[in-house]
Amino acid sequence: MNNDTTFDADVAIIGYGPTGLSAALCLGRYGIKTIAFEREAAIYPRARAVTVSDSTMRCFQSLGLDQDLAKVMDETVALRWVTYGGHEITHLTFPPSPLGEHPRSYAIYQPKMEEVLREAMGRCAGVVDVRFGAEVVDVEQDAEGVTVVSRDLRTGKENRVRARYALACDGGSSKVRERLGVAMLGETVEKQWVVIDARVKRWWPNRHILTFWSDKERPVVDIALALGNHRWEFPLEAHESEKDFATAEQLWPLLNSLGVTDEMIEIHQHAFYKHHVRHAERWRVGRVFLLGDAAHLMPPWAGQGMQSGIRDAFNIAWKLREVVKGRLPDSLLDAYEAERAPTVAMMTAIAVQMGRIIKQQLTDAEMAALAPPPDAPPEEPPLLRPPFLEGGWVRGSVAPDSAVGKTIPQPRVADSSGRLCLLDELLGDGFTLIGDGLDPRELLSASDKAAWDVLGARYARVLGANDRGVDRDDIIDLNGVLQQWMRGFGVRVVALRPDRFVAASDVFGLAVPAPEIKAGAARAAFATLPPAA
Ligand SMILES: Cc1cc2nc3c(=O)[nH]c(=O)nc-3n(C[C@H](O)[C@H](O)[C@H](O)COP(=O)(O)OP(=O)(O)OC[C@H]3O[C@@H](n4cnc5c(N)ncnc54)[C@H](O)[C@@H]3O)c2cc1C
Repeated sequence: MNNDTTFDADVAIIGYGPTGLSAALCLGRYGIKTIAFEREAAIYPRARAVTVSDSTMRCFQSLGLDQDLAKVMDETVALRWVTYGGHEITHLTFPPSPLGEHPRSYAIYQPKMEEVLREAMGRCAGVVDVRFGAEVVDVEQDAEGVTVVSRDLRTGKENRVRARYALACDGGSSKVRERLGVAMLGETVEKQWVVIDARVKRWWPNRHILTFWSDKERPVVDIALALGNHRWEFPLEAHESEKDFATAEQLWPLLNSLGVTDEMIEIHQHAFYKHHVRHAERWRVGRVFLLGDAAHLMPPWAGQGMQSGIRDAFNIAWKLREVVKGRLPDSLLDAYEAERAPTVAMMTAIAVQMGRIIKQQLTDAEMAALAPPPDAPPEEPPLLRPPFLEGGWVRGSVAPDSAVGKTIPQPRVADSSGRLCLLDELLGDGFTLIGDGLDPRELLSASDKAAWDVLGARYARVLGANDRGVDRDDIIDLNGVLQQWMRGFGVRVVALRPDRFVAASDVFGLAVPAPEIKAGAARAAFATLPPAA
């Protein structure tokens, strides 16, 4: 054991895929000294993830990266489930997002997205040190910190880095998880899938609509990726193996069965993979946290695997900032698993259910329930629900009729000097208490205000576009969206966390939350998952 209290970094990140990269970008923005280790020298070239949602884009917006990323992504407008015979089982047209001005869903090309994010790391020079070609071979910890042992893959030289905390973002076969002795619970479906990525030569009808070809034997995912790329995913049948699909000539019959020809596309690359419904039994061991695929694996149907890792990173980064800066206790970090596990479990359940539709495993009654009557009011499908918390670093009830635990919408607003912008641009990176027409400080006791002041909280009034007497920190709610939202929950003041969730409201008290976190959040959250289809 090494009880050295001299630190090379506040945080060490192991793995620089989308999860580790997002964590590094957040910590870099917050000025938290970080060292990231990545064994590969270059970006993983395969386009694995295919979608990014409005809420993930809102995370990137907080880093000032949404505009750059939007340039390399395409809006996805709808998805549909169709039989090979052309019968449409059901469809979903994406309504406008309540979270801001980003589309509900983007098609991405993962290597390009990662390239844009990596370029943005240039802004974190001097704060984040990324070591490529460095494989982490051991992680030890003691009461004070973590020692990360890495090996330079070119020279073979070993290096030891001491950090206060470590984030294991080293993917589904995480060696750090193994080293910590944390079991990966759940199951892997033995069926293999072949994933074919292609470059588009010539547009075909409705290429941009994400299509699930539903079939008991050969269900297929057919999805436009950004930048003129396209993806198909086919399951192998029981008598087939990788050898049967080793070359482009062997892949063409699969594509031809959907009417796809070499006049339309050029096959770019292909790979084989299996679906997992798995989660690590705990996501924190002492000073080491599991994030992304290292903590959870889900089937790809809901397009939420990578995004869940990115949200893990955004969830834990501000907590680490507060703890490293000494403003909140280490126990705040227990809220990471408590907050993330229920959401990831819910997304996993949705992904499994979507897979059952594609594979036509639903009963007739379940299928009938999927097709809403033509005159039914539009309902928000669970997949599109804005992120919410079921507990963690919040005060009071997170019931559906409570503002606590919800994400605040992001309407277009104005500041007191007349500048028009999106709400988050006024919220910044910290905590903000906002009052509906009143200064939140009016409802705070002296001690509660002192506690929020320690966190550097800002206090703002929300006023309507017709109001007079505007003060410096006021937010002009141009279309009344914020006031309507707050009044809908019967709240006059909400306390917002850096990640735009409501931590507290005047209904349950505005003291800085001090949550009681129960152990075993991940186990509890995943306990009721349906079996992997
Ligand atoms: C076919 C397919 C389709 C998918 N579609 C979607 C989708 O539409 N939407 C979605 O959100 N997700 C999707 N996913 C899932 C998504 O790709 C993963 O969830 C995501 O890449 C996980 O990111 P990560 O950073 O956690 O792990 P990884 O991407 O696996 O990154 C881990 C990194 O850690 C590095 N590393 C590992 N061990 C060490 C070590 N010892 N030392 C140093 N470095 C190390 C690796 O080299 C790697 O760069 C899909 C996956 C597949 C396979």
